[in-house]
Amino acid sequence: ESKRRVRNGWQRFTPALAEGQQERLRVETHLRRAIDNAEFHLVYQPQVDLLQGRIVAAEALIRWHNRQLGEMRPDHFIDHAETTGDIVRIGAWVLREACRQSAAWRDAGLGVIRVAVNVSFRQLVGDDLAAHVGRVLAEFELPGDALELEFTERVLIEDAPATLATFAALRAMGVVLTIDDFGEGYSALNYLRRLPIHGLKLSQLFVSGVPDDRSDVAVCEAVAGIARGLGLGLVAEGVESEAQRRFLIDLGVPVGQGFLFAPGLSPDEFARRVRDGGGRFG
Ligand code: C2E
Ligand code: MG
Ligand code: MG
Ligand code: MG
Repeated sequence: ESKRRVRNGWQRFTPALAEGQQERLRVETHLRRAIDNAEFHLVYQPQVDLLQGRIVAAEALIRWHNRQLGEMRPDHFIDHAETTGDIVRIGAWVLREACRQSAAWRDAGLGVIRVAVNVSFRQLVGDDLAAHVGRVLAEFELPGDALELEFTERVLIEDAPATLATFAALRAMGVVLTIDDFGEGYSALNYLRRLPIHGLKLSQLFVSGVPDDRSDVAVCEAVAGIARGLGLGLVAEGVESEAQRRFLIDLGVPVGQGFLFAPGLSPDEFARRVRDGGGRFG
């Protein structure tokens, strides 16, 4: 987006720019119809107890397959969906589908598996997110703590007047609230202190460099210190190696997710992993 920033209100026309705009229009046109055409599905990445290897939760990650565009990763379309506002409908679909899946796993005898859902800051504006979440939980007879909502640091600075009340209402239902990709964005530590959240997710941006990169080590230590100091939980993202796992355990990080354990899995594959050896890895 920064490449498109206009100076003095106008910018030079270039063929590359026109191409970019056409591409955007193409994505946005297909995106508008994606729900009705049933083009989305969710995959579930295990969150794993770093010490024991047990699966403790699942993060739901959206996947979009469109016949013309092919496989689109969320990094390529969530921004568009936020710009057009489609994210509100898409986010509602994701929330309901993740809860439906958690209930299906429960009904299949797996117990209640907490599902973490990524929520856009746009979903906090307007519609009452807490009431909506309450209705979906009731529909599937799920307890509040079967659901975790991941917000990016952006909610910390957007400072929508209703955010604090929404978070308090969600927390009162037992819903687990976390800040995703912590450290990547704005680090509004003052808001962090004011919002009634349960935990932080340590960004894979920093996890990827440990244990060798000294500045990444420093950031991971700092984030772990903030979590400990504020009494918050901590989940490490993007754990890819045994060396990273050992570093995080030494740092006192209890839970991680990443390719070392599993990528996003189909519901059946996820259930199989939970059943096989109680979801233990390694
Ligand atoms: P995120 O929430 O931080 O999710 C983690 C991303 O890292 C996922 O990419 C996941 O597949 C990837 N990942 C997991 N383990 C590893 C690892 O060990 N190494 C590496 N290199 N990557 C790993 P994905 O699925 O492409 O999602 C990208 C982002 O798109 C997510 O980042 C999230 O911000 C957003 N997103 C995904 N699904 C949704 C959704 O349903 N709603 C909204 N609003 N955003 C979503
Ligand atoms: Mg996430
Ligand atoms: Mg993340
Ligand atoms: Mg991310």
